Amino acid sequence: MRDRRNSLHKRPGAGKIDGNKSFEDLLRKTRKSTSSVNSYRERSLKIHGLICAKCGREFTHKNRHLLTVHHKDGNYRNNPSDGSNWENLCVYCHEDEHSRGLFGDYLGDEK
Ligand SMILES: [Zn+2]
Ligand SMILES: [Zn+2]
Repeated sequence: MRDRRNSLHKRPGAGKIDGNKSFEDLLRKTRKSTSSVNSYRERSLKIHGLICAKCGREFTHKNRHLLTVHHKDGNYRNNPSDGSNWENLCVYCHEDEHSRGLFGDYLGDEK
């Protein structure tokens, strides 16, 4: 006996609807996440000030885009409103911070 139940039933309409839905979902999520990123960044800058926590370089509204928010525990979804997980780092220190974290295990003697 032939079992035809395994043969694929392709419905031309179904895939399209699903695709539209997920695309809309994605768009909504993207918008949400960007706005939340912007809001925690603004909060962190307000709480900690326009200054790099590492090198102490100060920033103004003109070059504030060089100041980024680092998550101390590395979890970008952990955003307590009191700013305890945030650290304002300039892009240079931020890169340094992450490269240290990544290579820390490999270059154990270099601190
Ligand atoms: Zn810095
Ligand atoms: Zn970071």
